[in-house]
Amino acid sequence: ASGYSLLRDPHHNKGLAFTDKERDAHYLSGLLPPAVINQELQEKKFMQGIREYQLPIHKYMAMMELEERNERLFYKLLIDNVEELLPVVYTPTVGEACQKYGSIFRRPQGIYISLKEKGKILEVLKNWPDRNIQVIVVTDGERILGLGDLGCQGMGIPVGKLALYTALGGVRPSACLPITIDVGTNNEQLLKDEFYIGLKQRRTTGKEYHDFLHEFMTAVKQNYGEKVLVQFEDFANHNAFELLAKYRTTHLVFNDDIQGTAAVVLAGLVAGLRLLGGTLADHTFLFLGAGEAGTGIAELIALEMSKQSKTPVEENRKKIWLVDSKGLIVNARKESLQHFKKPWAHEHEPVTNLLDAVKAIKPTVLIGTSGVGKTFTKEVIEAVASFNEKPLIMALSNPTSQSECTAEEAYTWTEGRAIFASGSPFDPVEYNGKVYIAGQANNAYIFPGFGFGLVISGAIRVHDEMLLAASEALAGQVTEEHLAKGVIYPSFTKIRKISAHIAAKVAGKAYELGVATHLPRPENLVKYAESCMYTPTYRTYR
Ligand code: NAP
Ligand code: MN
Repeated sequence: ASGYSLLRDPHHNKGLAFTDKERDAHYLSGLLPPAVINQELQEKKFMQGIREYQLPIHKYMAMMELEERNERLFYKLLIDNVEELLPVVYTPTVGEACQKYGSIFRRPQGIYISLKEKGKILEVLKNWPDRNIQVIVVTDGERILGLGDLGCQGMGIPVGKLALYTALGGVRPSACLPITIDVGTNNEQLLKDEFYIGLKQRRTTGKEYHDFLHEFMTAVKQNYGEKVLVQFEDFANHNAFELLAKYRTTHLVFNDDIQGTAAVVLAGLVAGLRLLGGTLADHTFLFLGAGEAGTGIAELIALEMSKQSKTPVEENRKKIWLVDSKGLIVNARKESLQHFKKPWAHEHEPVTNLLDAVKAIKPTVLIGTSGVGKTFTKEVIEAVASFNEKPLIMALSNPTSQSECTAEEAYTWTEGRAIFASGSPFDPVEYNGKVYIAGQANNAYIFPGFGFGLVISGAIRVHDEMLLAASEALAGQVTEEHLAKGVIYPSFTKIRKISAHIAAKVAGKAYELGVATHLPRPENLVKYAESCMYTPTYRTYR
């Protein structure tokens, strides 16, 4: 290959880090300025550059440009500066990037499968250069974060998630494939936008939608086999639950919004109990938002309670209450509820708003999964704080603009008594001379390690017990030190170690359940996971 194309191949390009010897051997002489700058120095320089940008979206664009130019440097940066760069390549900035995807679009990333490709999806997959795909993240763009229908511009999400699969979880970049399925959009603004990159038509629904998705799922299995993980991401809930139920028995599928979120939140709760006291079953949970995240978390809590106390899950569900846009979910509403809400309809008078629900249910744990910002008002939080010494409050909606409350509000309105975590990051808060650090309850703690565990064991199906195992592994990484500061999640700086533990637990479950295909089972799964992880150090070219 020519040196010129080597410099333009992001998988191999090292920029100025090519040594003189390498430049000689690979026809690079004269194509680079004379200085040789190693990866550490390149990293330092790039980080300085990133910090100069004022706007997060400019940092995002610089990172994406780097990924396209020099993949290993991109991942080195992300791994070494995870706390600083996570908010850039992931929530909250990725939300803004999706909203502006049309105008910042330079080069396509991943595969776009639109209705134009109906009947030809298998051929489309074959256009992708890498054959050994292990993880696919796919969206149809209908519910991007808490930002609604962004159609084809949702691509930012699979791209961002897969960057984390590599940086946080250790999956090789070439084994990752972002896919956006474009079945139209109902976003009027996009439909009118002359620069919109997607299909300009309203969303297809019903049989045509499901047939199209079925063609996709069939083609994926045909092309990549049974061990490829398909992560459904940011589908609207009317499709998400159905797709998961339909494909979980025939494919290796995982819905991050339902299952990943559940495992992350359960881990935070289990860790939080070490501060609050009692078992899960001793607590009362109230959710604002009864969609994918809300009901997914609720169900995993109930499953864990059942596992701990050997009691029926139906009994345990009664300790968990949810509020949707119409109010508290109660028996009287059962007939008209969507099927995924029905298990949560308990006997109670109708209650139409969150504040009244808080007063009626008196939760010890309040969780926001509504996608609507500023819904944990002063009155709501003060009410929760009035009957709990340490109210546990989670504002999970992303991005930051949709957070149910800010960290500052949570601490101020509870006079510093809240144990608080949020989906998007908040800076530490000073209140009455004390500094409070909010945990980040984000599924980025779970999905990279979870998926990696499936990959290294060659799992062919996902079971709920694997989610519980992942959750326990994460909770186990929360130290007394974290708890002493009131933080119920470990810091992201140790995420590769955390991911290795999660992967090991998940893989262990896969072997136990007989769904692992990589045999024999490695003796020490944590060590094995660590040894399989991708590292972005430059290779030497001979
Ligand atoms: P979803 O399936 O669309 O569910 C949203 C739920 O909120 C629905 O039950 C909806 O009620 C309810 N809701 C909407 N507006 C409301 C209001 N004003 N008052 C009360 N309830 C209201 O969405 P989702 O997948 O669960 O995601 C929700 C949010 O969670 C998003 O912002 C997402 O970014 C965030 N999330 C965070 C994480 C994390 O890791 N932190 C993970 C996943 C999702 P109806 O059913 O009546 O319409
Ligand atoms: Mn999501």
